[in-house]
Amino acid sequence: MDLAERLSKERRGRLAAERLLVQKSRELFAANEKLSDHARSLSDQIVEQREVTREAISEAKSLKGENLRFVEDLDRAHTSADMAERRLWDSINIIEDGFAVFDSALRLVTANRAYEDTFRLAGIEPGITYDRLLSGIASQGLFQINAPEWTAKMMTRLDQDLIEPVDLQLSNGQWLRLQDQRARDGDLVCLALDITEQKRIWSAIEAIPDGFVLFDREERLLACNQNYREIYAEAAPAMQPGTKFEDILRFGLANGQHLDAIGREEEWLSERLAQHRAGNGVWEQQLSSGRWIRAHDHPTPDGGRVGLRVNITREREREAALQTARDAAEAANRAKSAFLANMSHEIRTPMNGVVGMAELLCDTALNEEQRLFAETIRSSGEALLVIINDILDYSKIEAERLTLFPEPFDLERTIHEVVMLLQPRAREKGLDLMIDYDMFLPTRYVGDPGRLRQVLTNLLGNAVKFTDHGHVLIRVVGIESEPGLRQLHVTVEDTGIGIAAEHLDHIFGEFNQVESASNRKFEGTGLGLAITQRLIERMNGAVWVDSEHGVGSCFGFRLDLPAAEDEAATPPPTAIRRALVVDDQFINRTILERQLSPCGIQVVLCRSGLEALQVLDKDTSFDVIITDHVMPEMDGLTFARRISGLGLTIPVVLLSSNPAGAREEMGDLELAALLQKPILRADLYRRLRALSGAEPDEVAPVAPPIPIAEARLMRVLTAEDNRTNQLVFQKMVRELSIELVFANNGREAVALYQSYHPDLIFMDISMPEMDGREAATAIRLLEGGRSHVPIVALTAHAMEGDSESILAAGIDRYMTKPLRKVAIIDTLAEFRPREALPIEPPPEAMTGT
Ligand code: ADP
Repeated sequence: MDLAERLSKERRGRLAAERLLVQKSRELFAANEKLSDHARSLSDQIVEQREVTREAISEAKSLKGENLRFVEDLDRAHTSADMAERRLWDSINIIEDGFAVFDSALRLVTANRAYEDTFRLAGIEPGITYDRLLSGIASQGLFQINAPEWTAKMMTRLDQDLIEPVDLQLSNGQWLRLQDQRARDGDLVCLALDITEQKRIWSAIEAIPDGFVLFDREERLLACNQNYREIYAEAAPAMQPGTKFEDILRFGLANGQHLDAIGREEEWLSERLAQHRAGNGVWEQQLSSGRWIRAHDHPTPDGGRVGLRVNITREREREAALQTARDAAEAANRAKSAFLANMSHEIRTPMNGVVGMAELLCDTALNEEQRLFAETIRSSGEALLVIINDILDYSKIEAERLTLFPEPFDLERTIHEVVMLLQPRAREKGLDLMIDYDMFLPTRYVGDPGRLRQVLTNLLGNAVKFTDHGHVLIRVVGIESEPGLRQLHVTVEDTGIGIAAEHLDHIFGEFNQVESASNRKFEGTGLGLAITQRLIERMNGAVWVDSEHGVGSCFGFRLDLPAAEDEAATPPPTAIRRALVVDDQFINRTILERQLSPCGIQVVLCRSGLEALQVLDKDTSFDVIITDHVMPEMDGLTFARRISGLGLTIPVVLLSSNPAGAREEMGDLELAALLQKPILRADLYRRLRALSGAEPDEVAPVAPPIPIAEARLMRVLTAEDNRTNQLVFQKMVRELSIELVFANNGREAVALYQSYHPDLIFMDISMPEMDGREAATAIRLLEGGRSHVPIVALTAHAMEGDSESILAAGIDRYMTKPLRKVAIIDTLAEFRPREALPIEPPPEAMTGT
């Protein structure tokens, strides 16, 4: 081979070798790369591994620490468990109730001290079986039972799910409740509870004669005693502790326990439950047994209810018997009062005859002795009538037959009238009777004047009766309690014997009098104050008394009366500017001052005539001098004489409680006026106005008289069925110039009205066939409003209960029996027609007879 060839072969060989080298070095490089990557990851892993190992090591280290702590904790836990058990046992041992645990084979595992102590005699020891313990208890005579039988019974009860507790009393008197209960692993936990206290309270509750019941706040029965079960016998089977109250009620309802629920059971039930929930109350109920129960319910502090059920059947029966007896007694009392009312009414009729005839007898020629007899018959008769009136009133009030008849009237005038009636008696005793009627108080009211007059007569009459020296003062004040209504306070004050404190309370009782030697000399029925009180109470008022023994009394009453439309009040005497008042009595001076000052009159008060004369010595500028009549040292008349002796022309007004006597003493002395005491405010003003010449003295207008020749006799018809009363009436008017016709009953009266045309009719009210009311009605019907004959009713007693019907019958007025001559004459004179002759013959004619 040629060199070139060789050379080219060599070159090709070299080139190939070079390429292989490149190739190989590339591969080497790649391998190198890989290797270094691997080495890198390996080192990373190693680092990681190292980290993990480090963590593991530290974890292991901490685990080891925890392990150590855990062991310590466990140790401590053991110690506290030991302590807790010890404490538990200490506590269980302290408890006074017994506690024991038997295992599933009923062997005693453990017992506390109380349990051991209780059953020590029964041979208690660890491992003893329950039945051996029981027979130990029984055989040791811890209590009185039949041992084998009891033990067997006690053992069989252990088979029940819920083991019934057993109560037993030990021979030392202690009560135990054995309460056993199975634990989950078959153990038997036994309690021996000391229930001596409970038993004691319970036997006390059982011993009370009433029903006792206790409910919890969920209305479940906690306990009740045997009496409770007996009271609600029909519901008793449902009374198991734990039963809801509603279920007990429902059970009772279903068995007809509650009489008051029949027919409305559901309603009753909800009412009863509401009542129970309200919790507090006392009510009464009747049970199906007919028994009456009073129930008391109260809430307990824990929200429950405790109830007591008292059997009140006997009480109810007694009450019913009492009520019946009371009704009967009241009916009898009313009947008796009605009888009394009728009787007193009946007694009045003959009494009218007695009094009337006696009065007539007194008018005839009698010798001294006969006059004494006749006067005694009259005054005794009148006294008897007063008593009968009292009885009549009282029985009417009692029989509930008294009616009030309100009408407008003048209170001040009514008081004056009563005072006037009592004036003679007061005068006899030398008493001053005074009225202090509040100046600013209206005088007209709507009320029953007759009954008020009666009250005033009673109080004032008593005051005069029980006072020997000094005064009797009636005072009226009032306030406007509401528009149109006045609250009046009326007091009657005296300076009499007074009433001792111990008698004050029952002075208003019927027939009550202060029974003492000093009092027995006073007459009276003891009904006056009782009637007064009843009357005032009927008028919705109140009565009271204040008194001091030996000093005096003050009786008062309060009344609300509507003020009647005041008729134009009496105008005050404006022309009088200054008045001199002379009276030894302080109260009289004050009253006069109070009556005059408000009219703008300047009043100068003097205690005696001498004092007044001294005043007049210096000052004579008075428009009027008002003086009392009877005064010590210098009386009113002497004083008046001294004034006229001084040449003074001031008008003198004399106030006297005995104007007739004063007139006799006056002689030729001239007075401006002589007025009856006590003086009515309106009258005083009228007199003073007349005095000052401001207006003429009011005189009743007098019609021109009819010539006597043309006149006829006044025709009077008197309807009266009682012969004696007819006779009395006839005799009383026999001297008068009238014509008198009698009707024996209402029918005759009506007939005579038509035929006789009377000028005046006196009409008795109670008459046979047709009574006075019916007759009056018939007459008014016949008149038909064309004419009007005055009819005056004759009633047995003022304001006789039926006065309303009397007035309704068209009767003009009424008069009270016994009829008094003067009253009859006054009435006749009042109604005499102009064409009739004067009823009283002129004085000359009288001297002739
Ligand atoms: P009577 O006056 O008929 O005995 P009353 O019922 O009016 O009956 O009075 C009862 C009693 O009250 C009187 O008996 C008297 O003892 C006593 N009494 C009443 N008013 C007064 C009085 N003003 N002063 C003293 N005692 C009085």
